[in-house]
Amino acid sequence: MQTILVTGAAGFIGSHLCERLLADGRRVVGLDSFDSFYDPKIKRANIAGCLTNSNFRLVEGDIRDADVVAGALKGCDLVVHLAARAGVRPSIEDPLLYQDVNVRGTNIILETMRKLGMKKLVFASSSSVYGNNKKVPFSETDVVDNPISPYAATKKAGELICHAYHHLFGMDITCLRFFTVYGARQRPDLAIHKFAKLILAGKSIPVFGDGSMMRDHTYIDDIIAGVVAAVDHCGGYKIYNLGESRPVSLSDLIAAIEHAVGKKAIIERLPLQPGDVHQTYADVSRAKAELGYEPSTEIEAGLARFASWLRSSGQQ
Ligand code: NAD
Repeated sequence: MQTILVTGAAGFIGSHLCERLLADGRRVVGLDSFDSFYDPKIKRANIAGCLTNSNFRLVEGDIRDADVVAGALKGCDLVVHLAARAGVRPSIEDPLLYQDVNVRGTNIILETMRKLGMKKLVFASSSSVYGNNKKVPFSETDVVDNPISPYAATKKAGELICHAYHHLFGMDITCLRFFTVYGARQRPDLAIHKFAKLILAGKSIPVFGDGSMMRDHTYIDDIIAGVVAAVDHCGGYKIYNLGESRPVSLSDLIAAIEHAVGKKAIIERLPLQPGDVHQTYADVSRAKAELGYEPSTEIEAGLARFASWLRSSGQQ
């Protein structure tokens, strides 16, 4: 039976991935520090279901501690490295922390794997590496040398250090560029979750810019299907976009959230934020051809599922 180490296991994407891998009959080791970027109680709840499965082992610790990583890696065949400080705007406030967790932390994972002779890694990168790329849709062959936030720079740096380990030590590494992921348990700092809660509470929502900003929102089940396919095809050094490839404007997104939660938003217009990109739009043809990735959840259907989760979660 395959054993997979998932870092960031208690987070939004990590907890869904652990559940799916366990359901597929694989053994999972989850490593997470339950950091305070958002309420750790939410992360405890995210991972609670996995803890009852005898094929799951939780390691509480920091990816920057090589001894913790080595202990977690025991008996594992492959690593899915999701643990990171996420979020563009907070990375501008504390860039050194982002650099430490996302770059040094990723390097510690790679170096510990190398010392233990482990060969396979799937790394969570981000659409933010495309910066203000003018050409759409964004494809993996586009130049990504112009990140516009510290967060984006750490993800690009992660891809680069992964390449060095592939080149030097023959490690098989797949970097997945996720495009704004949403669904049950979405991080509370992300727009859909934040807006839905504020609308339901009758409070105003902060809208940066004129609402024309375009985002490719990807439903969690589509992302997880892509990650699992990447796990099963991990060979060589590869980069894949995982998006929905159906961008929507911020104004249309707000209208769709209003529809999903059944209530009108009160809008507070604010200037564009530094670090925010104007648009994201994934070309997923490489992932389709090589991984069999087929994103299928349209935003209205995904938001309806998100809203019903929000109602039942007690997080309103
Ligand atoms: P999340 O914050 O919900 O999950 C990250 C998890 O990593 C958290 O549970 C956190 O406690 C853990 N963690 C943070 N620092 C750690 C450390 N030093 N040691 C051990 N664990 C640590 O975030 P998410 O939305 O699930 O994102 C998962 C990954 O996907 C991240 O790498 C993120 O950058 C990337 N990503 C996410 C999105 C998105 O839309 N959610 C988009 C692009 C990329």
